[in-house]
Amino acid sequence: MNVAKHTVVGLAYALHLGDGKVVDSSDAGEPLRYLHGGGQIVPGLEKALEGRAPGASFQIAVSPDDGYGVRDEQAVRVVPREAFPPDAPLEVGAEFTVVDEAQRQVPLRIQKIEDGLVTVDFNHPLAGETLHFDVTVVDVRAATDEEIAHGHAHGDDDAHVH
Ligand code: ZN
Repeated sequence: MNVAKHTVVGLAYALHLGDGKVVDSSDAGEPLRYLHGGGQIVPGLEKALEGRAPGASFQIAVSPDDGYGVRDEQAVRVVPREAFPPDAPLEVGAEFTVVDEAQRQVPLRIQKIEDGLVTVDFNHPLAGETLHFDVTVVDVRAATDEEIAHGHAHGDDDAHVH
């Protein structure tokens, strides 16, 4: 079975940002499993995997538009220190998750702390980066009805809660 919509794909991958230094990868012997066509992985990689057979290995460079998006300077905000809980361990580079008005989890990173003001960056850490993937399709199987309904792949133990 080749990669197509509503298949679950096992991927071994390594990601670097152009200099060969791996910033993310699947664990050895433990491929990432995702539901193809569900937007679980970046669009550029998902497109490149379409129709591939198990065992296929390839490299692909994904532009920011097809990756984590371009950086948005509007997504960099300055907020008072008091906007954070008093005991929050604020330091440059620290990552937090806040909940917005629509109850969505929004990750942010602290860029600068100065004079009681904290500069926070809501951009994805890989926004603006060209993503270089080194990919092997480990296996492909049909998705279950439940996986299709949930919009994601389930693990072998199937022990997750919704
Ligand atoms: Zn599920």
